[in-house]
Amino acid sequence: LIEGEEELLLPRYVRVNLLKSTPEEVIKTFIADGWTFLESAPSPPAPPGPNSFHRDEHLDFMLVFPPKSDLHLHPLYVSGVLILQDKASCFPAAILAPPKNAYVIDGCAAPGNKTSQLAMGMGNGGKIIACDLDLRRLNILKRLTTKAGCTNITALNTSFLTLDTSEPDNSKVTHILLDPSCSGSGIVNRLDHLVDAYADEQEQATILETTTTGGAAERAAAEEKKKERLKSLGEFQVECVSKAMTFPNVQKISYSTCSIYAEENEHVVTTLLRNHWPQWKLCPRSKVLPTWHRRGYPADVGDIPGLVETDEDRKKIADCVVRAVPGGPEGDLMNGFFVACFERVSKNKSAGL
Ligand code: SAM
Repeated sequence: LIEGEEELLLPRYVRVNLLKSTPEEVIKTFIADGWTFLESAPSPPAPPGPNSFHRDEHLDFMLVFPPKSDLHLHPLYVSGVLILQDKASCFPAAILAPPKNAYVIDGCAAPGNKTSQLAMGMGNGGKIIACDLDLRRLNILKRLTTKAGCTNITALNTSFLTLDTSEPDNSKVTHILLDPSCSGSGIVNRLDHLVDAYADEQEQATILETTTTGGAAERAAAEEKKKERLKSLGEFQVECVSKAMTFPNVQKISYSTCSIYAEENEHVVTTLLRNHWPQWKLCPRSKVLPTWHRRGYPADVGDIPGLVETDEDRKKIADCVVRAVPGGPEGDLMNGFFVACFERVSKNKSAGL
């Protein structure tokens, strides 16, 4: 595929903001505008044809439009009813699914699409602290979440890693969403990338490109740099989730990346379970988008004494986590993504697989 061609193959995913409307209302509006509503998604999986759209089969608030549909000027987008968000990027908040009255931290929150999705799922109840180190991005979060009608979010310009877990408010936290900086290597839809890109992701993209285009020496040096970069990202990601596990009453933590690399995905999960099992375990597949077919890669799950010692154990761990393979048609028609969800093991409950 030539550069940019991937985008042509990816549907335009639209999240209906349930704080402002319903999928049924939005469908009626598009039909009235002359669009054709398809009762089901094309099979085998493919983007809908010109001028047609359908509901998503995994996320009930999501509609799927043809590639490159430009909805930026649509009145429903302008009024905050439609949110242009890649399907995979909706997985973490859908999996964390905090109850309406929960106290939630979104630890690396900006620009805030997942934060506003959390608020939507909670019907603006409970409380969400949206934390980000980057003030410019946090200001975008404030703007986007206000436009989306969210009223239960407090934005905090600080490092998640330095939050004081002994503060009384932090002892109320029950759910944490962590979507920390990553290599961004799963992003094929550059249109979304321009909105969401973090400086590091752009730097990483340049490194990744050099590994495929330079001369032999240049490629080897870039490969080495990429390895170092992935190692330090993996360490940062482990640090973030480990920090989340220190909140005294937190019960559930979702961890996600838009990376295709095991170093940021299965390897991070392995390290966390090595350090924190049996106090923490992975939520079983039944709580983690059970109908989504693409799960983790067993070969990338490492040994964990007492928990993962055989290939069968590796398969069970991999089955608890979700992956999306970027692009199409062999991929999942979205950006590459990974989500794992950890839950605290309460006394007298099994910490087994
Ligand atoms: N969850 C966001 C969304 O859906 O819109 C995207 C998050 S982006 C992948 C990662 C974010 O982590 C960046 O905005 C970056 O500024 C932030 N970040 C990096 N280190 C951080 C830290 N120590 N504490 C809080 N935020 C951090």
